[in-house]
Amino acid sequence: EEETSPTKKLVSDHGEKVASHYNTLQEVGLVVRSQSRIFYMRNFNNWLKSVLIGEILDRVRGAGSRNVSVLDLGCGKGGDLLKWRRGGISHIVCADIAEVSVDQCRTRYEEMKRKSHSNEKIFSAQFIASDCSKEVLSERLDDPELMFDICSCQFVYHYSFESEQKADMMLRNACERLKPGGFFIGTTPDAYELVKRLEASDSLSFGNEVFKVSFQSKGSYPLFGCQYHFSLEGVVNVPEFLVYFPLFEHMAKRYNMRLVLKQRFSEFFEEKVKKENHRSLMMKMMALEPFPCEDGGQQATDNKEQYCHAEEH
Ligand code: SAM
Repeated sequence: EEETSPTKKLVSDHGEKVASHYNTLQEVGLVVRSQSRIFYMRNFNNWLKSVLIGEILDRVRGAGSRNVSVLDLGCGKGGDLLKWRRGGISHIVCADIAEVSVDQCRTRYEEMKRKSHSNEKIFSAQFIASDCSKEVLSERLDDPELMFDICSCQFVYHYSFESEQKADMMLRNACERLKPGGFFIGTTPDAYELVKRLEASDSLSFGNEVFKVSFQSKGSYPLFGCQYHFSLEGVVNVPEFLVYFPLFEHMAKRYNMRLVLKQRFSEFFEEKVKKENHRSLMMKMMALEPFPCEDGGQQATDNKEQYCHAEEH
């Protein structure tokens, strides 16, 4: 409860829109979701995040980290919890501006813990409702000394590019508690692609029957606050902002960060899908049929169901 009240004071106009949008999104069951035209796209995004998370955990462990601590910045309803569980991490801090989502994330974590086998040690967790583009997150940590091996910011960072102060605060929260050699990983829309498509369009928007991106003007694009609306079958429809990547990379240097890798989803896919383990994970995540697992039969279906549910965001 002490986690929720400061957020209210800190939420700005845009922050309020984001929070109330994500707060009012309904939790829908697997059946409804599987009928959605965006089901496969969501699964693809989840596959991509799973591979990214898995590989970064390998790198962190390869560098000698044993008890891995993670900050999930903009955790939403906890769609990545299962990925972190599979990765065998020790601790996670989940932060999001939308209080309802943070509550759902906590509930999902508690369910996960409750249903786990007694011989599996599930990571410890802290949940924080916070506008991470306005508030210094480290001041809210239960353990004031905590340092992270990884900060993961999935489909979130673009909301902060409303202003330099917000983008910088988000970056500060992502990086200031990283251990030396730690990683900041994330996914965000490609501003070049968005502008390219806008410029090619004869109106102020582009898209298809599934998604639509609309700008208020074109021709010039401010470094911060370059707003557009993104809608995906009505699922996400709050203003977002272009992230000019060279500027982002430059800003990150302030926090002693250097760019290790930047890839478009298509490039990432083409590279990773060549590996057998990544390809078979994709088959599992995309397929609607029960998939084989060690215990076989019904167990497989249950696992799949749980998998899809927990992976949803
Ligand atoms: N990372 C999650 C995932 O991949 O499933 C959720 C992604 S969702 C597209 C974007 C999330 O960013 C929402 O949960 C939203 O509330 C959160 N968000 C947006 N602005 C934020 C801010 N300033 N501080 C914290 N969270 C924010």
